[in-house]
Amino acid sequence: MRTLLIAGNWKLNPTTAEAAAALAEGVKNGLGSATDVHVALAPPFVFLGAVDRVLEGSPIGLAGQDLYWESNGAFTGEISGPMLVDVGCTHVILGHSERRHGMGETNAHVNSKLKAALAAKLIPIVCIGETKEERLSEKTEEVLLEQLTGSLAGLSNEEMAGVVLAYEPVWAIGTGLTASPEQAQAVHAYIRGWLTQVFGEATAARVVVQYGGSVKPDNAAELLSRPDIDGALVGGAALKAADFLAIIKAGR
Ligand code: 13P
Repeated sequence: MRTLLIAGNWKLNPTTAEAAAALAEGVKNGLGSATDVHVALAPPFVFLGAVDRVLEGSPIGLAGQDLYWESNGAFTGEISGPMLVDVGCTHVILGHSERRHGMGETNAHVNSKLKAALAAKLIPIVCIGETKEERLSEKTEEVLLEQLTGSLAGLSNEEMAGVVLAYEPVWAIGTGLTASPEQAQAVHAYIRGWLTQVFGEATAARVVVQYGGSVKPDNAAELLSRPDIDGALVGGAALKAADFLAIIKAGR
């Protein structure tokens, strides 16, 4: 009942609007009109307009990489949910580990951003995941529980059903180390169990839970074949249209 979502998080890449448009063009042309897998691209804010123009008429979603919880006002440097919608976004990534660990974003911040995203009718992709130290000291579930409870606080069942979660073990991001399909499935099952406990089975069964962390064309099929892995949030491999398309194909 869940449709896979394969999303490309371009992070701080590429460096020109021309290159961003070319990358989007490559994905669009390769994908065609296929809708059996949901696909979204998350370019840097300043290229959203250029990428949106390329994606016109295609089923590919457009995602912001973050937002601020206020809609407008004196918040230098920030971008709001309504602004993302205005430029053509359908999705927004929230609580990426590079923001949690690099920029001091807390679960309370992520929760405020999540509520703003839902108010703007954006599909939020909420990232969670443990660091290497936390995994080695067997604190993975404890950390995830804290992130899930804090980031998703105050949601109705219906709201929760529309949120995408991305399990991204920090130790697997950009390192070439991937959680094994068994390791990832075990965590995804834990997340599904938590969702069942808090929101009930029917809601938990609807929540798309992506895996992220060094997803590549050669490991995607195995990861995506696991019962609780409903897609991928792809970093490095999303910067080459051919690799990203191969990952989408692996999910079919
Ligand atoms: P990599 O695929 O480069 O490991 O990045 C994963 C990620 O952080 C996606 O959000």
